[in-house]
Amino acid sequence: MEDCIFCKIKLGELSSTKLYEDGDFMIIKDINPVAKIHLIAIPNEHYSGLDMQTEEGAIVLGKILHKIGTLSDELGLSNGYRLVINQGKDAGQTVQHLHIHIIGGEQLHNL
Ligand code: 5GP
Ligand code: ZN
Repeated sequence: MEDCIFCKIKLGELSSTKLYEDGDFMIIKDINPVAKIHLIAIPNEHYSGLDMQTEEGAIVLGKILHKIGTLSDELGLSNGYRLVINQGKDAGQTVQHLHIHIIGGEQLHNL
């Protein structure tokens, strides 16, 4: 998808700190962290948001959740973490490529 930051990162056209990658998705460090650890899990496939997702996309999201669980120690998140999807304007979604924020590394404020 042209002009999509996350597609460009996936293609190596923009640099990032990549912590994990497989055939379905990648995990990179967020450029503007809101906590000591702030990562983003990004499906390889471009979906602008949850509303545009397909059934295959839903399967990938499930795989991402499973993988985050198995990688949490390695990512420095053994004390816990928070997953966030900003969907659409009211949630403040700024990058129109579906992604999951992984936030932790310190005590987070209760929601
Ligand atoms: P959203 O607001 O759409 O839920 O999240 C987009 C996230 O992408 C933000 O947390 C923002 O800091 C991050 N971000 C935006 N541009 C870049 C970039 O070029 N590289 C990285 N690593 N993160 C980015
Ligand atoms: Zn994209």
